[in-house]
Amino acid sequence: MSGIEIICTECGADALVRREPEYDGFKKVGELFFCSACGFLYASEDDVPFKTTNKTEIFTDADKIKPVTIFKDEELHKNCRYCNHYVFNPFAQRCDLHAKFVEATDMCDDFEKKEDLLSRH
Ligand SMILES: [Zn+2]
Repeated sequence: MSGIEIICTECGADALVRREPEYDGFKKVGELFFCSACGFLYASEDDVPFKTTNKTEIFTDADKIKPVTIFKDEELHKNCRYCNHYVFNPFAQRCDLHAKFVEATDMCDDFEKKEDLLSRH
């Protein structure tokens, strides 16, 4: 007999399979297999993603680690963090020009290089 722990292909939950007899009228014709988490009905026992059948390769490290996004130099310098209007305090990062919250990595069309602040007259 197969194990009853599954990793549901429908909802992705670490769940259990729920077996219910399938009747044709009063005659039992087979079994139905449901996900205990979302109630998804599997087409057949062969489609049940039993945990014991080594399906763990679905969850590889590659899925967990997002590739690091590499910005081109030009784009990098248009980030809010390098902008004159970027205001950083312990509570929030915001854009003084647009009066909104921003991320240091945001990019903006109204970007104004921060060095201008120092050389302003
Ligand atoms: Zn499910």
